[in-house]
Amino acid sequence: MHPAPHETEHLVIIGNGMAGHRLVEALLKRSDHPARITVIGDESAAAYNRILLSPWLAGEMERDALTLREAAWYADHGIELVLGERVTSIGRAERRLTTDAGRTFDYHRLVLATGSRPTMPDVPGIELRGVHGFRDLEDVATLTEAAEQGGHAVVIGGGLLGLEAAEGLRKTGQSKGPSLDVSLLQRSSRLMNRQLDATAAGLLEAELVSRGLRIHTEARLAALEGNEAGRVVAVHLEDGRRLAADCVVVAAGITPNAELGQRAGLDVDRAIVVDDTLTTSDASIHALGECCQFEGTTYGLVEPIWRQVEVLAAVLCGDDVAGFREQPSATKLKISGISLFAFGPIEADPDHDVLAYHDPEQGDYRRLLLRAGRLEGAILYGDTDMGPWLFTQAQAGSDLTACRQALLLGSADANALLEANDSDPAQRPVKEAA
Ligand SMILES: Cc1cc2nc3c(=O)[nH]c(=O)nc-3n(C[C@H](O)[C@H](O)[C@H](O)COP(=O)(O)OP(=O)(O)OC[C@H]3O[C@@H](n4cnc5c(N)ncnc54)[C@H](O)[C@@H]3O)c2cc1C
Repeated sequence: MHPAPHETEHLVIIGNGMAGHRLVEALLKRSDHPARITVIGDESAAAYNRILLSPWLAGEMERDALTLREAAWYADHGIELVLGERVTSIGRAERRLTTDAGRTFDYHRLVLATGSRPTMPDVPGIELRGVHGFRDLEDVATLTEAAEQGGHAVVIGGGLLGLEAAEGLRKTGQSKGPSLDVSLLQRSSRLMNRQLDATAAGLLEAELVSRGLRIHTEARLAALEGNEAGRVVAVHLEDGRRLAADCVVVAAGITPNAELGQRAGLDVDRAIVVDDTLTTSDASIHALGECCQFEGTTYGLVEPIWRQVEVLAAVLCGDDVAGFREQPSATKLKISGISLFAFGPIEADPDHDVLAYHDPEQGDYRRLLLRAGRLEGAILYGDTDMGPWLFTQAQAGSDLTACRQALLLGSADANALLEANDSDPAQRPVKEAA
């Protein structure tokens, strides 16, 4: 009798980041996972919670709290973990990988979980010393050192990552060193323009300015200026302004690490193209996380990646699975003292029913977009307790007509109305014709 495939199979995972690690955890929960698993990661530390780099930079957390599992845990579970080594090529015909240390690894199945990197704008001076991304442990160690030295820091990008970097630098600079002046540049006319409307963005900006950040909207980067030693000294904007800068953090988008897959001849668009089983154009190679692209979408948040992990773990164990599907994600900002929750479209169209509540005194703002009684989008700033409930209702496509008047007040009130309505058939809203 032949052994089942999982009893002989060697699975290699490239990338010991959040997706690669979570896949290992999901596989180990099952008894029918591939017999041999090797994980190769180019960072020197074992997998850590990248999301927590922001609170670590802000000095709100110790480094140890970021660790997901120590290297010894992998050994204890019979998994070979190779750290500090980069896979440089994939020989698909012979199913063999080569690393930058010249080692080779044979595989039966391969998973690419190589993540992404900060997108560096194509402007003069981008290669200067003192210009950093905000992606890994080394970046945070360097930024913490820069913050402690004081001077001028400029963060490029007014999205989630840029805001967390700017506030982290400001807090660390304030608590540990001589004064650090932090400026943030945003191309758009408002912060977090992909998630917030003008009112919520205005509240956020006012709060950050009151804490000491300098925020420049409609600020387009033209060039970085360096000194004779090749260090950045200033940032130049397209409108002619010059801002002094001892440290520049670029948080203006991410570029999927797809080149390894591309060199191996896999289908690659903006990222490595996968189907709903997270399989690439080669049936024995899968990809997940920020390095992959499904139906034209690439990823930058963990929620959809966790759902990819569940699908891929099942596929690797030979299950027939319901394929991965694209679903909306909600956005939260990790800056202490600021609560913000948003999902769905930002601009209302003429068919939207717009419910809004704004208390400028308390810095509280809620705006909901409904279409025919169903919630499509929400922006909550200040009191965000209701966010997860609203998100669940939107995902379920619930008809919220019965609790419309309580929707801005709290999930308990809204739920009570929905339940009362549900128990009284006469009150049940007429379902829309399919
Ligand atoms: C500061 C920060 C804050 C964030 N906050 C949030 C948040 O609040 N909420 C949220 O949902 N998401 C957040 N994210 C995004 C989230 O961290 C990513 O979506 C997630 O890490 C993606 O997982 P991944 O495994 O695809 O990529 P990664 O976690 O980047 O892992 C990829 C790994 O592969 C390694 N690698 C690449 N190429 C090779 C190679 N050739 N050989 C070997 N190893 C290789 C990389 O070095 C890396 O270790 C944040 C990201 C950052 C940087």
